[in-house]
Amino acid sequence: MTRCLGAIIKEGKKHICQHTLYHCINCGSVGCDQHSFSQCSNQGFLYCKCLVCGTNGQSKIFYSDD
Ligand SMILES: [Zn+2]
Ligand SMILES: [Zn+2]
Repeated sequence: MTRCLGAIIKEGKKHICQHTLYHCINCGSVGCDQHSFSQCSNQGFLYCKCLVCGTNGQSKIFYSDD
């Protein structure tokens, strides 16, 4: 399973996100799903809603081939 390598800045410190990555079945955007806005530099979804196209509840776990 692919993990998100985006950065989360919390109290001035940088963490690697490591959340599960999802991809939008509508527009193909890839990112992690966060429960608040802009937590992760690689965030793609907010409560399963795609931040690019706004499709709701249509994200899927993203599996990498390599
Ligand atoms: Zn992330
Ligand atoms: Zn989308």
